[in-house]
Parts: sequence; C-alpha cells; structure tokens
Amino acid sequence: MAGAKDTTVLDHSELGVQRRQMISLIIPVFNEEDSIRLFLEQTSKALDPLGDDLDVEYLFVNDGSRDATERVILACRDDWPQIALVNLSRNFGKEAALSAGLNHARGDAAIPIDVDLQDPPEVIVDMVARWRDGAKVVNARRARRDADTWAKRISAGLFYRLFNALADYPIPTGVGDFRLLDREVVDAICALGERSRFNKALFSWVGFETVEVEYDRPARAAGETQWSYWKLWKLALDGIFAASTTPLRIWTYIGLTMAVGSLLYSAFLFFRTLLFGVDTPGYASTVILILIFGGMNMFALGIIGEYVGRIYTEVRQRPLYIVRSYHQQGVDDAGRGGG
Ligand code: UDP
Ligand code: MG
Repeated sequence: MAGAKDTTVLDHSELGVQRRQMISLIIPVFNEEDSIRLFLEQTSKALDPLGDDLDVEYLFVNDGSRDATERVILACRDDWPQIALVNLSRNFGKEAALSAGLNHARGDAAIPIDVDLQDPPEVIVDMVARWRDGAKVVNARRARRDADTWAKRISAGLFYRLFNALADYPIPTGVGDFRLLDREVVDAICALGERSRFNKALFSWVGFETVEVEYDRPARAAGETQWSYWKLWKLALDGIFAASTTPLRIWTYIGLTMAVGSLLYSAFLFFRTLLFGVDTPGYASTVILILIFGGMNMFALGIIGEYVGRIYTEVRQRPLYIVRSYHQQGVDDAGRGGG
C-alpha cells in the first residue's frame, strides 16, 4: 500500500451516479514485447460482445522489463487509447506487480489477466455477466491444464493439496489469478497491510459472494514463461507460511512426542543399568540419537526462521513495489519520480 499512495488514483465514490461502468484488466508484464500487440488484438476482439455500455481499461504493469515492453505498450496507445501503464522501478515479481495493478485500477471491477493469452479473454464476457447478476468475485476455473508440462501439473497439484491441508482459508484448486473482483473486493484487498503477498490466498481470505466460470487453459501464445521452478518454490513457501501457522504448531506435537519417548527410553536405560549392570558401549544408538535430534532441531529452527524472516520483512515496512512512472489512460504523462 505504501508504495501506491498515488494522488492520481481517483476516488470512485465522488464520481457522478450516471457514470458508465468500467472494468480494468490488470496485465502484469515482464519482458513480453512479443505478446502485447497480439494480446490487445485478441482481447479487444473477444470483448466486442460486451457492447458500448462498458468501458475497458487495459492497465499494464511493467514489472521492470529489460526489453522493449514499455515502448511497445506506449506505441499501442495510438490504437488502444484505453491503455494505462504503471512502470515499476525494477522487477518486483508478479505478485507485487498485481498489487500495483490493483492499487492503480480505476474500474468498477478489476480482472488480473496474463498477457500470454493463457487466460482466454473470451471468458471475461461470462465473468462480466455473472458480475452484473450480483456476484462480487467471479473465479475462472481451469477445467484442464493439458498445456502445462506434467511436472508443472504434479507440483501444482501437490502444492494445492498441501496448502489446503494447512491453511485456514482454502484456495479453490485450478483457479489462478484470473478472476473478476468487484471494486469493493479490490478495496478490501488493497487495505491489507501485509508485505509477503500471495494474492490467490488473499483473494479467498477477503470472502464476498463468489461464483465460478470454467475454461480450458491453452498453451502460451508467444514468448517464454518467466517463472523458474526456484521462483515457484519461493512463491509456494510464501503462500504456505503467509496463510498458516500450522508448520509452527506441528513442532509442539513432535516435541511433545519426542520428550515422552526420551523419558521412557531414559527410564528403561536407568533400570536396565541398575538391574543388569553396565552394558557394552552403545556407540550406534548414541550416534543415531544425536543425528536424529540434531536434524530435527535444525529443521524446526528452519521453520521458525521462515516466520522470523517474514516478521522481519513486515517490520521493515518497505513498500511492496516502487512506481517509476504512471501513464494514466488518456493523460499524456502523469509520471512521478522521473520516468
Ligand atoms: N510476470 C511478471 N513478473 C515476473 C514474472 C512474470 O509480471 O517476474 C508476468 C508475465 O509477464 C505474464 C504473467 O506474469 O503476464 C504470467 O507469467 P507466465 O506466463 O510466465 O507464468 P505461467 O503462465 O507459466 O504461470
Ligand atoms: Mg503463462
């Protein structure tokens, strides 16, 4: 939030009652020069059925791209004046980019969507219909993810199972960031102060009336995925540790079991020595016990460390992202802090 105290963001309550409704597509982009024009062409075609009574804002969040992404987006404004662009000062990652998008979205509803057309824009028409029927959140569920590699599918499946087993607020499987969020929901999410962001979990944490539409997830239209398995692993850890304290609590029970076990074993050793005298040297059992307890201690410390690290990031109060410049729709340059 702190990074987004942007005076250019409008106060929606003060606009006239007769205003046309607007949806903001939030499109985080990181080195996507090849995908942008294709995305805009396909999406504006797909949104045709929505007709003229709904405005669309294409809000790109340039997540520190090092290629021509920014230039391509600005050039596209000639053909699509509905484009707005937030340039971040470096690559902050998709989650931070999404938060920047939510903070700058001016629409009555916001839809985070990937630029690679893996979130088919045709689904938006269904989403808007459900939204107009009164839903505050419209999730888009992937019916199949054939386009993903088996490794991605298995790891994603395992992650969702583990996450939902641990978290207090489960996230629906097969629903990504692609969904429609009503203005009320967007405001609720933007008001959350935490710094380690795992948006999927925040979206379900805030609640509100939620419905679902289904779609098939196609393969990437252009360019390459920017997610490495290492990045996904870090995101998964963020998700789990941000949403749940169960990993901490597990150690209460493991510790308790171990303590009772050790007590019984000590008693056994004590009485055996009393009754049968000193035995042969117990090298193996000693080493095994040291190793097991040492390993468990390290692991438990690691888990605690995960939380301490997160407490540290929260305490530092750094902004989630830094805006280098903001090009609002229809305004030539509303950049701030140089741009
Ligand atoms: N993205 C981003 N910052 C990053 C990585 C990715 O803004 O650090 C954007 C990317 O440009 C795309 C979206 O996030 O619009 C989804 O990325 P990608 O298609 O690589 O992920 P996948 O579909 O494999 O989950
Ligand atoms: Mg993709």
